[in-house]
Amino acid sequence: NDEILEVKNLHVNFHTQNGVVKAVRGVDFTLNKGETLAIVGESGSGKSVTAKAIMRLLPKQNARITSGKVNYEKNDLLEMPLKKIQQIRGSQISMVFQDPMTALNPTMKIGRQIIEGLKKHQNLSSKEAKIKAINMLKLVGIPNAEDRLDSYPHQYSGGMRQRVVIAMALACNPKILIADEPTTALDVTIQAQILELMKDLQAKTGTSIIIITHDLGVVANMADRVAVMYAGEIVEMGSVDEIFYNPQHPYTLGLLQSMPKLHENRNKPLIPIPGSPPDLASIGTGCPFAPRCPYTMKVCHYFPPVKKEILDGHSVSCWLQDNRTPKELQPIGIGG
Ligand code: SF4
Ligand code: MG
Repeated sequence: NDEILEVKNLHVNFHTQNGVVKAVRGVDFTLNKGETLAIVGESGSGKSVTAKAIMRLLPKQNARITSGKVNYEKNDLLEMPLKKIQQIRGSQISMVFQDPMTALNPTMKIGRQIIEGLKKHQNLSSKEAKIKAINMLKLVGIPNAEDRLDSYPHQYSGGMRQRVVIAMALACNPKILIADEPTTALDVTIQAQILELMKDLQAKTGTSIIIITHDLGVVANMADRVAVMYAGEIVEMGSVDEIFYNPQHPYTLGLLQSMPKLHENRNKPLIPIPGSPPDLASIGTGCPFAPRCPYTMKVCHYFPPVKKEILDGHSVSCWLQDNRTPKELQPIGIGG
């Protein structure tokens, strides 16, 4: 089977002054070799926390992984000694964040940063690493690459910095790249260039990508499969076509309705989902979307919906999909 990563029943709590925040509540998914999985949802839905948990990058002071497994090549990353994780990070699993400066040292020339990374992970000589660094900058479209090695990060534009970071992340041919909102801070043209770059490099290296975003345009552009997160859970998961053309969870429908269509007048007002996500420090037992859902039934307030596979690879956690929901309670016209 061509599965490279499996996340099983992941739970993450944060201990805060306001109590225990259940940021990730039973997340399950798999990532296949060479595919791009998008994790989409509003901010605070647990997307970044999930990614950081996989990489063991959660803050030690207040974050706790209370249960779960992250199987990577038959090993559970959550059980691994930190030293081994550090070897895997950057060489087998790379991560790119929204702000490229989190990955760059502002006081070190770009060239030196790339060269040191290459020497560390690939056992290259200084000379070989320098040649490779120049090629990398060329590959990601940095003009005058040779001269730009001697620039400091602040002498690059934001888009150039992010291209360098992605190139650095992919330079060691990682098996998995986790990109958390990699283009959110960039303007639309640069965003498109970065996404093209990621697809290009993926085609060359066969890297599996997890892309985290709140932008459905990015999802449509990049993803093979999509996981929709809400309140720390995956509420719907399926192929990109299923999610866009056959969405079944009311939250997914709401997200899609709030997205401008390509052919539509950009000035047309979007329909945002009314209300706001639940407080994860005091989350109740029912469906977390119930207070905002246009289809809420009585049962939704009391019992959590169970995940149902409605089509091969397309699963939904919603009482509307559950044949135990009393018929007379089912609203009509969903998705119509
Ligand atoms: Fe809406 Fe109920 Fe489905 Fe939750 S379980 S999304 S409240 S219909
Ligand atoms: Mg985030």
